[in-house]
Amino acid sequence: MFKASLRSHLTLWFAGLSLLTLVSVGFYVGQIATRQIQQASGNALLNTAKSAASLLGVQLQERQLEVYLLSRAPHLERGNLDDPDILLSMLLRSQSRAEYAWMGVADADGRVRQAVNGLLVNQSVKERPWFQAGLRAPYTGDPHEALLLAKLLPANSTGEPLRFIDFAAPIHNAQGQVIGVLGAHAHWSWVTRIVESAVVRKGMSQVEALIVDHDGRVLYPEQSMGQQVPAELLTRQNDNSGPDWSAGAAYLTRVVAVPTPANAGLSWYIAFRQPLDVALQPARLLFYKLLVLGVLAALVFGLVAYYFAQYLSRPIEQLARWAKQVHDRQPDVTFPADNSVREIAQLGQSIQGMTQSLLDKESELRDANASLEATVAHRTAALTQANAELLKLATHDALTGVYNRRRFDEKLVESSLLYQRSGRPFALLLIDADHFKRINDTHGHAVGDEVLHQLSGLIKDTTRATDFVARYGGEEFAVLLPEVEAPESPDIVAEKIRAAVAEATFASVGRVTVSIGVGLATLSDTSTTSLIKRADQQLYKAKESGRNRVVF
Ligand code: GH3
Ligand code: MG
Ligand code: MG
Repeated sequence: MFKASLRSHLTLWFAGLSLLTLVSVGFYVGQIATRQIQQASGNALLNTAKSAASLLGVQLQERQLEVYLLSRAPHLERGNLDDPDILLSMLLRSQSRAEYAWMGVADADGRVRQAVNGLLVNQSVKERPWFQAGLRAPYTGDPHEALLLAKLLPANSTGEPLRFIDFAAPIHNAQGQVIGVLGAHAHWSWVTRIVESAVVRKGMSQVEALIVDHDGRVLYPEQSMGQQVPAELLTRQNDNSGPDWSAGAAYLTRVVAVPTPANAGLSWYIAFRQPLDVALQPARLLFYKLLVLGVLAALVFGLVAYYFAQYLSRPIEQLARWAKQVHDRQPDVTFPADNSVREIAQLGQSIQGMTQSLLDKESELRDANASLEATVAHRTAALTQANAELLKLATHDALTGVYNRRRFDEKLVESSLLYQRSGRPFALLLIDADHFKRINDTHGHAVGDEVLHQLSGLIKDTTRATDFVARYGGEEFAVLLPEVEAPESPDIVAEKIRAAVAEATFASVGRVTVSIGVGLATLSDTSTTSLIKRADQQLYKAKESGRNRVVF
């Protein structure tokens, strides 16, 4: 399995953690900034909308007051609606105010009696809402398209239909009876200019000012007319945390109610909206800046992480290299003990100590092994020798060194088996020292032993190497002669032995003789005992007939 180095592990971890931190902080800052910028843009919109609304409110109130004051002029109270003074005062008013498109008085039946520029004079306005409301109280109405006046007035330069908002106030005579209505139509563009001027004054980019009626329908501007402002936005007017408005695109929208004159037949809202991506442009810029900064910081962090990891992992790499050298048994490797990291230096020292003690132990073990091998070899040799001696002891007679009785019995069986197979006969000599008891008695047992030893030597020297000499018991010896060539040859060997003994001189004792009985194996022998018995009988005969002789 692939194993990454400590350095890569450390680099990856450091760099990864820094990157994670950077990304989290960047994301968090971005979120906060976006929210704050949205809040700030919303505030700006709201403030602009408020100032526009209050400006409009003041203007509307002033116009209504103007109409009201005109309606209460003394020459109107006199009751003559055709009084030229009425026209004069209306003329003065409308000339000083360009927003008035029409101003006139209608009698209680709805017939226009006098009007500025003579427009609509004698026509009936009985069905018009402003007239009907104006009979009762001062009135300001919603904008509407000019029905009668459109034909009489110059058209709009923009091609849009002419729109007016109406002001009206009842005319009372001295007795307090309503004798007519004073009405004025103001150009709708006058209203929209007031609103637009607020935007222009604030210099906000791509901000759209809307005038909305109380049902949420857009009254202005022309191209957005009929669009519906969500009810939720209208209920949260003056609220800076209102929802966004999705109308084709997402908009940041703030709504403010226009303070309208008392008894007004209108209730308007001013809505200021700005495309959300324009409002959040600074947030996006901030985001890109953060991104660039983040990438730069990530690069710097990556480099720092790499060098930091290198700094941290270098001693461990050194330690690992060194441990490998120790493992590979490279000669004379030493770990620098002056490593700047204390734990690493300690580790190095410990490994060095451990290695040294292991090496010492290994050498001790080798020595112990060698000495053990020597001991084992020595013991094995001793054991082999002891075994050989044991084997010799088991088959030889301790006093004389010739074969013992046990080995003789085995050899006798082997010889008789061989004879039965090969048919080549063998012979047995039984040799007994003469009057041996006397030797013991005269010279002592030790001298007797000495004599027995000398006797065995004489027998061995007189026989062939292929002949088998054993101590048969006490002062008796047995000799097996394999493969007897001639019937008399055992007799000859026996005689040679007897003569050699008889001629030999025994220390302290002088002369010693032996009697020898010779037995020749026959095929009729049923067991080895019959051959022994025969040889023993011959020995007995030799003793009987005076000793120091051979009987065959
Ligand atoms: P003979 O001529 O009839 O054979 O008389 P002998 O005295 O040799 O025979 P006997 O059987 O009466 O005595 C044998 C003696 O041999 C008795 C015993 O003390 C002695 N003898 C047997 N074995 C040993 C031995 O290992 N060492 C010594 N020193 N004497 C032994
Ligand atoms: Mg005997
Ligand atoms: Mg004897």
